[in-house]
Amino acid sequence: MILHNFNSGPSILPQSVLDQASKAIHNFNGTGLSILEIGHRTSHFQEVLNQAIGSVKRLMDLDDSYEVLFLHGGATTQFMQVPMNLLDDNETAAYCDNGIWGNKALKEAAMFGNVVVAASSADKNHTYIPKNLTIPNNASYLHITTNNTVEGTQWHAYPDVSIPLIGDMSSDIFSRPTNFKQFSLIYAGAQKNMGAAGVNLMVVKKDILGKIKRKIPTIMNYQKHIEAGSLMNTPPVFAVYVSMLTLQWIEAEGGLVEMGRRAKERANLLYSTIDRLPFYKTTVAKEDRSEMNVVFFIEDENLQNLFLEECKKAGFIGVKGYRTVGGIRVSMYNALPLSSVQAMTDLMQSFAQQHG
Ligand SMILES: *Cc1c(COP(=O)(O)O)cnc(C)c1O
Repeated sequence: MILHNFNSGPSILPQSVLDQASKAIHNFNGTGLSILEIGHRTSHFQEVLNQAIGSVKRLMDLDDSYEVLFLHGGATTQFMQVPMNLLDDNETAAYCDNGIWGNKALKEAAMFGNVVVAASSADKNHTYIPKNLTIPNNASYLHITTNNTVEGTQWHAYPDVSIPLIGDMSSDIFSRPTNFKQFSLIYAGAQKNMGAAGVNLMVVKKDILGKIKRKIPTIMNYQKHIEAGSLMNTPPVFAVYVSMLTLQWIEAEGGLVEMGRRAKERANLLYSTIDRLPFYKTTVAKEDRSEMNVVFFIEDENLQNLFLEECKKAGFIGVKGYRTVGGIRVSMYNALPLSSVQAMTDLMQSFAQQHG
């Protein structure tokens, strides 16, 4: 049976990346050693790191005022590491409270300084992106989650602010052309759109660092990671390698323009099916719909479990909605072929005919 991987993360990777990665587990680049066995301070790994950083800089169109790091700990570590490095005890940071992940980020930040909520969508269960932000003049930075993985909303135009803008891009990084230079700091766990679990991409504009008085533990200190070139301690070698392969795949396939075209094509197919069939509904505001994670419900709640069973029989993986949201969530990251979305919409159509 063909499986269709709609997992929300870790998620689908390109077949060619899996092929190359499995070869490298046995013999990495003709070294006779496995990628799992090479030293992280060898020229072999340095080359992997250089290639990965090179791809990121090209895809993001960054100049030398930015540094690219590969760090441990997933995006969740950045919820703490960002304020630890950028927010002094007596300073204030502004956060958009637009979903589960952004809410976790702001709670972590509140352990380091003052946090104000610039805008919240909690009044409507985070089914939209509020556009009117209230940001105090003295705020150190504004933090947004560019795509709300759980709730299925996405910023389609970023807020234009004069303070540093910080983005958690974990679930839509490299999925479309983006003005990355609008941000002073970007972070993303690799396991959704750009690789395997275990590594974080962190991009930072150097001029925002070194401005606070707090003592920062070395392993948490961005400046020290920059000085060490992402090699302060042993990095997740294999995860960085898979990111390198995935980034090279993105470039070879046509870069962000092509990723964006594919994302739109997938999203249009699925949303137009939801809109066309009264049997299904989505509560997400139309202009804020995510192209990555589509959350929808069956109008007759009693049919929900039956639908999920049918999905299972059809080989659809990972479509049960997040436990606090319910319904169905279809995640459609970079590597997902349109044919998988077609299979989903075919099933939606026939299920609606049968039970409508
Ligand atoms: C998945 C996700 C996270 C958490 O990532 P971890 O790597 O598990 O820490 C954070 N933010 C967003 C937007 C996510 O989608």
